[in-house]
Amino acid sequence: MRTAEIRRRWLDFFAQRDHTVVPSASLISPDPSTLFTIAGMVPFIPYMLGQQAAPWPRATSVQKCVRTQDIEEVGKTTRHGTFFQMNGNFSFGDYFKEGAITYAWELVTGAQADGCYGFDPDKVWVTVYHDDTEAAQLWKRIAGLPDERIQGRGKKDNYWHTGQPGPAGPCSEIYIDRGPAHGPDGGPVVDEDRFLEIWNLVFMQYAIDEVRAKDEFRIAGELSQKNIDTGMGLERVAYLLQGVDNLYEIDEVFPVITAAQELSGKRYGADHVDDVRMRVVADHVRSSLMLIADGISPSNEGRGYVLRRLLRRTVRAMRLLGVEDLALPSLLPVSRDAMGVSYPEVLTDFDRISRLAYAEEEAFRRTLVAGTTILDTAVAQVKRSGGSHAAGRPGLLAARHLRLPDRADLGDGVRAGAAGRRARLPRPDGCPAGARARRREVQEGRPSHRRGVP
Ligand code: ATP
Ligand code: MG
Repeated sequence: MRTAEIRRRWLDFFAQRDHTVVPSASLISPDPSTLFTIAGMVPFIPYMLGQQAAPWPRATSVQKCVRTQDIEEVGKTTRHGTFFQMNGNFSFGDYFKEGAITYAWELVTGAQADGCYGFDPDKVWVTVYHDDTEAAQLWKRIAGLPDERIQGRGKKDNYWHTGQPGPAGPCSEIYIDRGPAHGPDGGPVVDEDRFLEIWNLVFMQYAIDEVRAKDEFRIAGELSQKNIDTGMGLERVAYLLQGVDNLYEIDEVFPVITAAQELSGKRYGADHVDDVRMRVVADHVRSSLMLIADGISPSNEGRGYVLRRLLRRTVRAMRLLGVEDLALPSLLPVSRDAMGVSYPEVLTDFDRISRLAYAEEEAFRRTLVAGTTILDTAVAQVKRSGGSHAAGRPGLLAARHLRLPDRADLGDGVRAGAAGRRARLPRPDGCPAGARARRREVQEGRPSHRRGVP
């Protein structure tokens, strides 16, 4: 089933059950405490907190999301994209646990001929928050799930919040067993690769503050109403329903891998390390396309810095695949064509989007050339002095004056480009403070207030 069809079925299913279809909000988070929209619920936070009256008791959406904290997972797990789409259904003080579980079970296991997804009920496992006996009972009654396929977990896994003060609640996650070829038996508590999480039902009923970690926060009180907030990963369902091995191989992503194979002359599937690089390329090209479409430009701070890293990591991965020529002009149009069905703005706005992306690749190439020269000089100085790092210091200091957004990207880019020369970036004193702070920002997906990014 094509991704666009899975998405259409989602919206139809909930529209037929009195949910108002709400278009995706921008990837630029409407919540000022996070850089990007990280979940379908983000645009609805004021309704959940009771700060604004919800215009409708029930809503559904397919929300564009970016999760920068998943960047290191990309290509290595089967299930993490930096950009992905979250299907959601929401109740603002209307139905609660029983309604959410009833809808989820019907849509996941109902027949494809009836507009549902048609997963085998025997392959469905769920988790619940360990205290939530009510949710466990509902899964037994509504879905007839046996006890062993309902697993209890603690706050780290089954209590959802955005990482900021705001609405929160226990959750129940739905997993599909991909079979013994993908890992040991025993459910999601044993193996989250074999048992793939597709959908999280969050029972939003508390306001939290003093958030220190996923499982460390203070429950400040009950919300004025009980809400439902769910998120199903569209790409994860697509990867299961399309019978492929991971979300980089679905119809909306794989064409870029095909293009990367053609450019590099390497075959996807032949070598694990190269496969990861191709997946990273496919993921990052798509994320960059969608971020620029939503008005973000490459820069050295905040959201623009995340975009710059995605584009540079793409170029770096292509160099590691042996492609020294410009890569984005061959890759970005492929992603545009794959995403244009669901997001026509990437077609109509492609001139602007591509101009920004291609200029960034060219700027990065100029930086790589300059960096290679400086590093070669520094390495030669170290060698001439019999291995003293101090001798290479002037060269390294010069590298700083290039005002690189992230020296790791430079180092890897140079390494990738300087095939055979094995140039390594010595790091006697780590990276500049600014770069370190920005890297933290990228991982946490938070804006730097110091720099006044909204
Ligand atoms: P995981 O533990 O696999 O990282 P999660 O618990 O972080 O998932 P949620 O925050 O509950 O996920 O998000 C709701 C749904 O969104 C998940 O069930 C999943 O289907 C999807 N999802 C979450 N993160 C990603 C991602 N990086 N790429 C693709 N889909 C995702
Ligand atoms: Mg996650």
